[in-house]
Amino acid sequence: MSINAQSKRRYTERLLQQKRSLEHSTLNAVEQGREAIAEDAQDAADQAVFSYQKEFLFTRGTHDHGQLALVKGALQRLKEGGFGECAVCGTQIGAKRLEALPWTPYCIDCQEKIERGEIEDPGRAA
Ligand SMILES: [Zn+2]
Repeated sequence: MSINAQSKRRYTERLLQQKRSLEHSTLNAVEQGREAIAEDAQDAADQAVFSYQKEFLFTRGTHDHGQLALVKGALQRLKEGGFGECAVCGTQIGAKRLEALPWTPYCIDCQEKIERGEIEDPGRAA
C-alpha cells in the first residue's frame, strides 16, 4: 500500500506550510535572543533572569531547528520516494499517524523504541 497522488499533494501542502512557520519562528527566536543579550549588557543585576531567558530562547530555537530538519526530510521523501515508510524498519507508517505527524520518519513501534533508548535514533546519529 503506497500513498496516492492526492494525499501526497495534501501532505506536501501541509509540510510546506509547517516549514514556512518553523523558519519564521526560528528566525524570531534568534532575533529575540540577540535583543535580550543586548538589553542585558546594560543591566547585570538580572543575571539569573537573563540566563533563564537565554536558555529558553536557545532551547526553543534548537527545538524548532530539529523539527525543521524533520519537515525538510519528509518533503524530500515526498519528492524522491520513501515517504510514509519507517526509516528504521521500512514498515508502512499508519495513515492516522501520518495524518497527525506527517513529518515523522518512524513507525510508532520504532518511535517508542527510540524513546526508550532501545535503538539509536538514526536522525540523531547523522
Ligand atoms: Zn519502524
